[in-house]
Amino acid sequence: MEHSKLTQYTTNDSGSSGESGSALNGHFDDIIKRPDALTRTVSAVPALAAESGSRSTDGREDRTRSAEDSEKSLPSLAAAYTSILRGLGEDPQRQGLLKTPWRAATAMQFFTKGYQEKIADILNDAIFDEDHDELVIVKDIDMFSMCEHHLVPIFGKVHIGYLPNKRVLGLSKLARIVEIYSRRLQVQERLTKQIAVAITEALQPTGVGVIIEATHMCMVMRGVQKMNSTTVTSTMLGVFREDPKTRDEFLRLVRN
Ligand SMILES: [Zn+2]
Repeated sequence: MEHSKLTQYTTNDSGSSGESGSALNGHFDDIIKRPDALTRTVSAVPALAAESGSRSTDGREDRTRSAEDSEKSLPSLAAAYTSILRGLGEDPQRQGLLKTPWRAATAMQFFTKGYQEKIADILNDAIFDEDHDELVIVKDIDMFSMCEHHLVPIFGKVHIGYLPNKRVLGLSKLARIVEIYSRRLQVQERLTKQIAVAITEALQPTGVGVIIEATHMCMVMRGVQKMNSTTVTSTMLGVFREDPKTRDEFLRLVRN
């Protein structure tokens, strides 16, 4: 069995280029096609922390769907799944499929329930003043997301570290931030960045590092069909980007 490991680093997103401007912000399929891109280190990128005033372009703070919206759209979503079944050559009326459109619609809403939540909602009462100035690391946070190009799962682990600057976040909230952004249609690069920026904006820490190691089912089940391939993305902000010692300590603690 083939083992391959893509290492890629999220790159300059300082401008307003959105998610499609950079080559690395595209889908990993694009990266595989270019052997020179398999391992790429990008350095000297302006720290996002310094420019948190410029909101990202994907409206990530917006709750784009309410619980009420989900309820209202369920019938049309289910009808769409009935069309999909027909389009696949199936008979939506056969017994085993009778309830499938509703089940699939409900499941898809669950897979994307992050749209119903806002980061601000979970930060209430979870930020504490604390004179702690050592690295805080939470690793192996389970992550389940959906590839926005193929609507199939992306799953893996998220590792988060930050160096507090007088404020810390309740540890369980880091996993909640991961949940809010991963339960949407995503590309791994954007997910990584969104988590890092959310922590930066909430805590104004000295630095933040986020690493995601994930398996993309669109890569495992189709296309190149590399069973054991893992895509690794990282975003380093503030001192994690500027100070190799801090970054190395973070990477070492995450690996152990
Ligand atoms: Zn995909």
